[in-house]
Amino acid sequence: MRCEVCGRKIHGAPIHAVIEGAKLMVCAECAKHGKIITEEETELGQRQPKKLLAPASFTQKKKPAQAKVEITQEVVNDYPVKIRQAREKLGLTHEELGKRINEKASVLSKIETGKMEPDNVLAAKLEHALKIKLLVPVKDEAAPTMLRLPSRETTLGDLIELNKKNAEEPTERKQS
Ligand SMILES: [Zn+2]
Repeated sequence: MRCEVCGRKIHGAPIHAVIEGAKLMVCAECAKHGKIITEEETELGQRQPKKLLAPASFTQKKKPAQAKVEITQEVVNDYPVKIRQAREKLGLTHEELGKRINEKASVLSKIETGKMEPDNVLAAKLEHALKIKLLVPVKDEAAPTMLRLPSRETTLGDLIELNKKNAEEPTERKQS
């Protein structure tokens, strides 16, 4: 057995090594210049796919179900009127109400004129101080406003009648 690099006779077992990308049988001296491959190493390399079992735990999706339970609330559209009427009913000035809920009188003034919409925290404080309802669930408020938008002249019944006529007309034309 001769070394594939230097051509010298190999004494004892030849060494498998990768030198410059080539897998060669070399002597101990030449093996120093390359990467020695042992039988153990090649075996381990082939068995690595076993590790694929580990990522299975990641497939268990954690759904944020808890977070969705939280009801999103928004301030009612007529909050300026509601707040002003409730405040006047209690005989409070902006300053007096402001002191109760730890807010500036100017802020309350802006809210009552509709220039500023109170956030949910402030709205909750006003609800408590004035004993009124300002916060409503978002989905409950959104749907009815859409239905109220059409003018009084056109009722839902009219719209259904119109749809019927539009649907019938083309068929009548085809028959005649
Ligand atoms: Zn050699």
